[in-house]
This record gives sequence, structure tokens and C-alpha cells, in this order.
Amino acid sequence: MTLKLDINPIKAWLPHIDNPLLIAGPCSLESEKQALDTAGLLAKDKRVFVYRGGVWKPRTRPGSFEGVGSIGLSWLQKVKEETGLPVGTEVANAQHTEEALKAGLDVIWIGARSTASPFVVQEIADVLKGSSAVVMIKNPVNPDVQLWMGAIERVHQAGIRNIVAIHRGFTPFRETKYRNYPNWKTVIELRRTMPNLPIICDPSHIAGKREYLFEISQKAFDMGMEGLMLESHIDPSCAMSDAAQQVTPADLGKILDKLVIRYESADNPDFENRLDMLRNRIDAIDSELLEMLSSRVEIVKEIGAYKRDNNVTALQINRWTQLMENRVNLGKKLDLDETFVKILFQLIHEDSVRMQTEIMDEEK
Ligand code: PEP
Ligand code: MN
Repeated sequence: MTLKLDINPIKAWLPHIDNPLLIAGPCSLESEKQALDTAGLLAKDKRVFVYRGGVWKPRTRPGSFEGVGSIGLSWLQKVKEETGLPVGTEVANAQHTEEALKAGLDVIWIGARSTASPFVVQEIADVLKGSSAVVMIKNPVNPDVQLWMGAIERVHQAGIRNIVAIHRGFTPFRETKYRNYPNWKTVIELRRTMPNLPIICDPSHIAGKREYLFEISQKAFDMGMEGLMLESHIDPSCAMSDAAQQVTPADLGKILDKLVIRYESADNPDFENRLDMLRNRIDAIDSELLEMLSSRVEIVKEIGAYKRDNNVTALQINRWTQLMENRVNLGKKLDLDETFVKILFQLIHEDSVRMQTEIMDEEK
């Protein structure tokens, strides 16, 4: 299913943009000086298009710094006056949204914890009705693409057309390298179902540590994301939230220097011709693969009927263990990734057993 929602491209609300959308600024605004000094440095880098600063901070446990609150909105207004950059913050309820709109913020975003709650999203969407603000929606903390889409639809139903989705990673269930693991599968699914929705990446909250920002940012461009939201603080070591993942504006510039920006197409006929040729070969191989799978299914069905007639079970664990071992070894010799081969044959085998049990049940 594809949902062709009426959503504006980024260029519609940021006409002078000729690069990926880069949003940068501190995790939290802490003082007027910190907000303005950071903004002053970021604004000198012409690759930064929007300034971010959290004023209401959703914290996992009570007792940590929960943001400066409404006063921070006036600092964002000052940043806008002084730098000319559009400014944005996170809202987590109706009152935040009212205040942020009243303060004339250009961008507001719904955080990962809020996206996970349809009631909260609806409450925010109701306040947004009639506003021309840009609304960004982070993925929910759990990798549920429906929940993410639902939040986008609620905001869209409120009449908002300047919408951007943000991939900020998902809560891991075990210790991982990253604070929130990126799940590109979920992002691809969102892109497939809402093809004209701009999607950007928030490498800061995925990484949790500044040393991983570059690799995640590059991966985001490799995957066709249209921009980045990166946390930048004038003095990260003193940051009151997310200190380990923030970078100075100068270090942010160094990360940006190294990044290779990728485009949907290369604007070069030779490139397009060669790509077409390679894709034709892939198409032919895929069709052969499907034909072979179909021949396999025919044999599986024959085995199913044969087992049924001889009262033998559909699942035979020894055969399964041997088959898997054999395919993994064969795959290794062919330079195929072991996990890939395992998952592929798990799927193939699962379906074979399903077909065989169906054949057995038919008899009853
Ligand atoms: C943030 O952007 O500072 C933030 C709290 O993000 P998230 O909702 O992704 O955790
Ligand atoms: Mn943060």
C-alpha cells in the first residue's frame, strides 16, 4: 500500500536550500549566552539551515535536567533575530505546542517518546490546526512503522503540509555499540509507503557518542536520507544533557567536510546507461531465482504427499539440521554472508514445512 499524502518537499519551505537539510544546535538550551554563542558559530557555517534547541526535555528518569522551559523560547527568538536561521524545539504536549507556536517558532518536532503515544500526538495535532509551522516527527522508541505513520497521518490530518520524518534509532533490548540502534528496514518501509515524505536522520541520538557521528551520518546519506539533525554545543563537556554525543560547532564542520553527499540520480547519461544494464542483469537473475523456487515448491509438495501417504511427519529435525549446515558451508564457499544464508534458508524451510502440513491436513 502506498499513501500519496499531500506533503511539501523541503524546498517548498526552505527555498534557498541546495544541500541536504542540516539542523544543528544544542540538545538543551541552558542559558541565553550558551544558546546565542552556539548559534553564532553554527550560523557561520552555511551548510546549517535550521537551529535546534530543546527547552522541555523528556528524561527517562526524574531528577535529571528537564530543560529551562518557556524562557528558552525567547532565546530561540533572539537566535533567529541575530542569525536569521529558522529555529525549532521539541514539544511534548498541547501546552508546549501552544507556546511554541505563539513564540513564532519555525519548526517544532515531536520526540520519540511522544510519537509512541497516539493520544499525545493527537493532542499536539489538534493545537497545530491552521499553523504553517514545519512539523518533524521522530520515530517512536520501538521499531513500529505503523505507529510512526500514524503520528504522521494525525499531523497531516490537522492540515499540516510541511512535514519531515526523523530517524533517531530505536531502544535496544541488549547492550549495543549505539545508544539507539538504527533500523534502516523500518525507514525503507516508511519511504515505500509514503514516497513523497522527506526523511532525515538524527545521528546524535542513534550514536550516543560523538565518535560514531560520522559513520552514521554517512550511512544516512548512503541510504538516501534528505538531511541530518546533529546536536552541537559550544562546550560539550559541560552540557547538561547528552554530553557524550554533542560536538562543538568546529567539530561539526569537520564531520561535514568529510561526508560524501549522495543524490537520487547522477544527472549523467553514461552512469544511467550502465546502471540500467546492471539492473537488467539483476532483474534476469531474480526471475531465474523465482523460477527455481517454484520448481523447489513442486518437489516439496510431492514430498508432502509422499510423507502423508506413509504417515511420516512434515518436520524432520535431523534433515533440517543437516540441510542448514550444508547450505551455510556452500554459501561460505560462494562468499555469501553466513547470517544471510541462515535467514534465507530458515524462511525457505519454514515455508516448506507449512506447505507439507497443509497437504497433510487436506486429507482429513
Ligand atoms: C532530542 O532531540 O533532544 C531528543 C530528546 O530526542 P529523542 O526524542 O529522539 O530522544
Ligand atoms: Mn539530546
